[in-house]
Amino acid sequence: MIAASRQPQSGRVAWITGSTSGIGWAIARQLASEGAAIALHGSKAASATTEAQLAELHAMGVAARYYALDLADGEAIAPLARRIAAELGEIDILVNNAGIQHVQSVLQFPPEKWNAMLAVNLSAPFHTIQACAPAMLARGWGRIINMASVSALVGVANKPAYVASKHGLLGLTKSVALELATTPVTCNAICPGWVLTPLVQAQIDALALREGLDESAARARLLGAKQPSQAFVTVEQIAALTSFLASENAAQVRGAQWNMDGGFTAA
Ligand code: NAD
Repeated sequence: MIAASRQPQSGRVAWITGSTSGIGWAIARQLASEGAAIALHGSKAASATTEAQLAELHAMGVAARYYALDLADGEAIAPLARRIAAELGEIDILVNNAGIQHVQSVLQFPPEKWNAMLAVNLSAPFHTIQACAPAMLARGWGRIINMASVSALVGVANKPAYVASKHGLLGLTKSVALELATTPVTCNAICPGWVLTPLVQAQIDALALREGLDESAARARLLGAKQPSQAFVTVEQIAALTSFLASENAAQVRGAQWNMDGGFTAA
């Protein structure tokens, strides 16, 4: 008789912030396919879409629940982490994926947009790590994966808050990785180039409107400017890298800034 092989993440719980669309949803599906229970999370109330997403995850044979919280509310993050732990189990894999973008010159950049972007892209990961790491340490295993960006590695004009928040997130990643270096809990960052998701589609739409381009010309212009491969990174590729960083074989990957960017930062 052949014993059924154990899925690599079965018995584990993953909280992926901002997992209702784009990269986060691909990561939720990937980790569910490996047996992890999924805390699906977004800023809006549950909807027909999130119900359908939960049904898809349940069909993969894992526990999954949807949690709505605007991560700009830093004080509400620890209570949410406690609720996830009570309902799904202690969080073993934390993916700080939620992020927002606003493109405007630093000279006109609205201070409230600056504050919102720093709160969601940088302060929220600080709060989630503070809320989740103690139980990971107590249980003797944990993975913290922060979705940074090529904007964590190089400057980009007209994205002052995004670039500052992602550089900060990389700094946070390295500090946490060093603090936890002798423990079984790792912390790493992924730095994607252009990935075709709703966040980037909004930038394509704005470019098309501004320059009078059709959709495909706007996409080509966006890639042509920065991404030498002239191809988008896919959400599945980012999910596969996340899967590796969450795996046993990544136990000694610590404080990495792992770019997947079609050559964006090679120049
Ligand atoms: P997306 O817009 O498809 O998804 C963003 C997710 O974040 C959504 O689930 C949304 O609900 C959630 N979110 C946004 N604001 C929130 C808030 N205030 N509170 C809680 N949740 C909130 O975007 P995406 O492209 O999949 O981006 C995911 C991550 O990847 C982001 O951190 C982004 O900066 C990063 N990233 C994206 C690209 C790209 O090209 N798409 C490149 C580099 C880095």
